Amino acid sequence: LFLRQIRAVGFKSFAEPTTLNFTKEMIGVVGPNGSGKSNITDSIRWALGEQSTKSLRGSNMDDIVFSGSADKPAADFAEVTLVFDNQRDIFSTIKTDIVEITRRFNKKTRDSDFFINGEKCKLRDIQDVALETGLTKSSIAIISQGTISTFAEAKPDARREIFDEAAGLAKYKKRKLEALKQLAKTTENLTRISDIKLTLE
Ligand code: ATP
Repeated sequence: LFLRQIRAVGFKSFAEPTTLNFTKEMIGVVGPNGSGKSNITDSIRWALGEQSTKSLRGSNMDDIVFSGSADKPAADFAEVTLVFDNQRDIFSTIKTDIVEITRRFNKKTRDSDFFINGEKCKLRDIQDVALETGLTKSSIAIISQGTISTFAEAKPDARREIFDEAAGLAKYKKRKLEALKQLAKTTENLTRISDIKLTLE
């Protein structure tokens, strides 16, 4: 069991501090339409650095902050913490047995802050870690309404990407791309150096 717990406050319909414990291999979430079932999976993707408000079913980041109800005022910020079991070293760069990933969005400052095990970090760090969870946007780990038909209708290249992500290849692809960029930069530097050398000779 990898994702152990979600804690949310001020995120979409989670006005009050809410803790969801995943203690069994299979969990069913039932409730009437619009009761907030999909907000749970949205909270996972948001905490893992999702930047597209459209894919979180909103028009801007303010839409993910609890907007108030008849008996509760609107929230100033949204915060979600995901608690992962890392006993099998799923996260290659984090050595603790339990890994807590937190995102906090402040409506006034419009800043998103990210934390790994309580320590502030950059969005990029979260995105790297998110690739290792297999829970990112293109992953099939979170299947929401419409995903199955998107998958069935996907072009071979797009479908291949979904399989790569599920197999954990995405992070290596990203690293390869970064290494290739670095290589191109180095080649450019080398050319410049040999040009300078020529003019000096
Ligand atoms: P369905 O079964 O129809 O897909 P669901 O149970 O998955 O529904 P969600 O789509 O998760 O429901 O939740 C939608 C609910 O969340 C709506 O009632 C909406 O008012 C509420 N909601 C979404 N964003 C906010 C927000 N920023 N503030 C308050 N409530 C919100």
